[in-house]
Amino acid sequence: MGRQKTIRNIISCSGVGLHTGREITMTLHPLPPNSGIVFRRMDLPDTPVVHARPENILDVHYATTLGKAGVEVKTVEHLLAALAGLGIDNLRIEISGPEVPVMDGSAAPFIDLLLQAGIRRHYVPKSYIVVTKPLVIDMGNRSIQILPSRRFRVHYSMSFDHPCFAEQSIDLLVSRRTFIRKIAPSRTYGFLRDVEHLWRRGLALGGSLENTVVIGDEGALNYLRFEDELIRHKVLDLIGDLYLLGRPLRGTVVAKGAGHLLHTTLVKEIQRHLESNEVSRCVVTAPESLPIPVPASS
Ligand SMILES: [Zn+2]
Repeated sequence: MGRQKTIRNIISCSGVGLHTGREITMTLHPLPPNSGIVFRRMDLPDTPVVHARPENILDVHYATTLGKAGVEVKTVEHLLAALAGLGIDNLRIEISGPEVPVMDGSAAPFIDLLLQAGIRRHYVPKSYIVVTKPLVIDMGNRSIQILPSRRFRVHYSMSFDHPCFAEQSIDLLVSRRTFIRKIAPSRTYGFLRDVEHLWRRGLALGGSLENTVVIGDEGALNYLRFEDELIRHKVLDLIGDLYLLGRPLRGTVVAKGAGHLLHTTLVKEIQRHLESNEVSRCVVTAPESLPIPVPASS
């Protein structure tokens, strides 16, 4: 069992928000043990806070948005993935607007920032969520399940409906090392055919070739960091979304055609089982299958 971690020094970065297009400054502060990950909106009266917790998941269209009492923080998943990858348990994230800066579209700049701040170990043990029974969420041709395992493993497959990126899959034992090297540098992606639709909905206003792999009819418009960068980024998003549980998972996640909706549905189901488990808060018990109806839009 490891010990809880925070950062050693206060550190800041600035950048554009992927969906809002606003220039935002973010400052990371250490917190004491058992504080969790906390966002604070510095631009609003009384600087309200939103905890990175399952109950604060507000919206999952194209990004994961947290919210509480009218206070929102958008696109938290890449930063949360970096915190999961480095095992940081306690942190206050002060932001000057409604969205986490997208930086280069990956988690690598956040990893660099956190390592630059330094990692401090608390003298308090870290707790894990250990999966003891399978939990399955099925939405037709999209599904996600978590299976018992002594390690955190991810198998992710996706069909992209594009001749150049038809089908990709990855199987990865997630550790600090594999996350930093194989997952963190993968960038968010978008299809050129969707851009006008997104802009009409007020999304991707800060998107550019500087922070997004843009895919046209002939393939990616920018140079890929990995041949299978798209599926690696799906894993990045998954790891970030799962960290809303506030603790690392011990289990194997099998995701097929999933996205933020399925990721966060799994998070809420795990949390529900944790809360109903009177024996141990570190053990998830679940029935064999938990079918969930397909929503009207996702
Ligand atoms: Zn992403």
